[in-house]
Amino acid sequence: MEEAKAAAKPTVYLTFDDGPSQQTKEVLAILKREGVKGTFFMLGKEVKRYPAMAKQVVKEGHAIGNHTYDHVYAELYGHFAVFAKQVMDTDEAIFQATGVRTNLVRAPGGTYGNFDQGYFDALAKAGYIVHDWNVDSGDSKRVGVPAKEIISTVEGSKLSSKVVVLMHDSSIHGESVKALPEVIAFFKKKGYQFAVLTDQVKPIQFRLAETLKWKRAKVTAAETQSLAQFMARTRAKPENSAPKPQSLVLHAGDAEMTFAPEDYRMTNGTIEVPLRQLVAGLHGIIRLDMSNGVAEAVVNNQSVSWTASEVGGSGKSMPSRIMVPLRDTLQRFQMIINRIVATADKREIWAGQSSI
Ligand SMILES: [Zn+2]
Repeated sequence: MEEAKAAAKPTVYLTFDDGPSQQTKEVLAILKREGVKGTFFMLGKEVKRYPAMAKQVVKEGHAIGNHTYDHVYAELYGHFAVFAKQVMDTDEAIFQATGVRTNLVRAPGGTYGNFDQGYFDALAKAGYIVHDWNVDSGDSKRVGVPAKEIISTVEGSKLSSKVVVLMHDSSIHGESVKALPEVIAFFKKKGYQFAVLTDQVKPIQFRLAETLKWKRAKVTAAETQSLAQFMARTRAKPENSAPKPQSLVLHAGDAEMTFAPEDYRMTNGTIEVPLRQLVAGLHGIIRLDMSNGVAEAVVNNQSVSWTASEVGGSGKSMPSRIMVPLRDTLQRFQMIINRIVATADKREIWAGQSSI
């Protein structure tokens, strides 16, 4: 029951377009004070101007979206190639400033009357998610809309269980900052939870207009492809897709030793470690009888021997590096593995004296 209730809690996504700006700091301070997160659809050129602000937005747990580079409608909606280029340039600018790649896009002016199906399709095919809104705070209806009017516009809006509020973050929107605390208070009072837009949030998108505001050529396959290629290239993470090399840390009684990723190997679930390093770590001694091809190690007063052929040598010649299976070898030294924990950057093993 409790879960069902939680899931049914209405959610509001506050979105701030056109920043970052000199006001972002104040917006962030209010959000922090109120304990809520928002989504900032940034312009590439403003990210270049205020990279530290963009970074702080991310650091404080808010989401970033792409709002094109310069917001010039006639350019963006005159030709899809320009829109795509601005999205890519902004993607890069945001990444340079924050280390984040965002797939969220908001069309300047919204998609209605600006996007045709080709715009929607090309962006979707590349993997961008286009978000319009369903509550317009009206803060950019004209210059200098007073805070009071912004608040009453929001409060007078039809609210669904999922609300995406359009607000602005730019130097001409000081009134939006003034209105923000009351806008937040309003949604809190209505029982809304606040969240940031992510790739998992189904976007609100306006329907297609019957007639566009612009005359332009159709989006071409080449334009679609070049955007998709940009995404494929920038989202490929070779360093993350290959498993990161992990060190192996062994705690055995009061001994502790670390095997570098290149100093141990895992074959079919069996961990093999260099005998020399293991014995040294366990405060034991090792003797090599080269004439007979035998290695002997003494640990905990237990003497264990290996013949050359047991450790991958041939005849009586020992390999230059003797690798032994860890679990088995510890057992022969009267120790057992109690616990293995693997994290992103290391494997950690705890072993102790076996009771028998
Ligand atoms: Zn905008």
